[in-house]
Amino acid sequence: MSDLQIGWVGLGNMGTPMVKNLVKAGFPVKVYNRTREKETEAISAGAHSAADMQEMTADSDIVFVMVSDDAAVKEVFTADNGLLTAHAEGKLFINVSTVSPDTSRYLNTCCKRAGASFLEAPVSGSVKPAQEGTLIILAGGDENDYQKAKPTLDVLGKLSLLIGPVGAGSAAKLAINYFLGLNLQGLAETVLFAQANGVKAEDMLTVINEGACGNGITKLKSSAILTNQFPAAFALKHLTKDLRLAQEQGLQSPLALPLYDTYNAALQNGLGDEDVMAIYKHLKD
Ligand code: NAP
Repeated sequence: MSDLQIGWVGLGNMGTPMVKNLVKAGFPVKVYNRTREKETEAISAGAHSAADMQEMTADSDIVFVMVSDDAAVKEVFTADNGLLTAHAEGKLFINVSTVSPDTSRYLNTCCKRAGASFLEAPVSGSVKPAQEGTLIILAGGDENDYQKAKPTLDVLGKLSLLIGPVGAGSAAKLAINYFLGLNLQGLAETVLFAQANGVKAEDMLTVINEGACGNGITKLKSSAILTNQFPAAFALKHLTKDLRLAQEQGLQSPLALPLYDTYNAALQNGLGDEDVMAIYKHLKD
């Protein structure tokens, strides 16, 4: 059992498997989720439930946050009943949610003001790597804080990189998710074009995945296309948010603008809670 007491806010698709890995590795973990019933799986795995976020801060050395978006993260840190209200001095807060570099720097300032430390550590990889502890972690912050967090990051991921100061990890995360969006829309458009010309989806996916154009994500998402089932591993609304953040951060390249427009149209089309690969369903319709 580790000496480091861990707190964790946010038990969605990513938070729950990540907490289970920390528990399995011997870290004592206290959890808090806004919808308290969703804590059940983590508690069954050996985590404990915190009465509220203030208790979590008081009882933890390191507190992780894994919630939806910038507004949710800001609320968790700075609301009247949030993490920074009391007992924050000397604690390390790590945001692993995907947010803008500006939000990350804002959180850093809030933590410093409360006498606490802050590390951003957004993750690349979806639910399966979260379950397997093979995420890629893109950290931004001070070396000392990164080293303090390292034993936990080593459990959550197969690789962690300290990319630069706070903001650099978020920028890298927005960049890799732009590439993810391109891959998935490219895959969807390619298969739809082939189908429209008499090629079976199964055959086209075999051509892609057996050749140089196939990659981890095309292989992972092929079965969703074939079964036309898109249960969320990574919800389309979250990728749309990331593409919007990338645009706001200056990504205005020829493919980036229509890419965001297409995912945003899919979101408006009611596909936000389905998996990112539902971009295929949107384009098909
Ligand atoms: P999710 O399944 O939709 O879960 C979202 C979590 O955020 C839930 O625990 C939710 O609580 C909580 N939340 C939302 N608004 C909140 C608020 N105002 N206050 C407190 N808690 C709030 O999302 P996810 O897939 O785990 O993703 C979480 C983050 O990781 C996102 O930033 C996403 O972009 C990023 N990410 C996701 C993946 C992926 O493949 N899924 C991969 C890499 C990074 P409730 O249960 O109460 O709704």
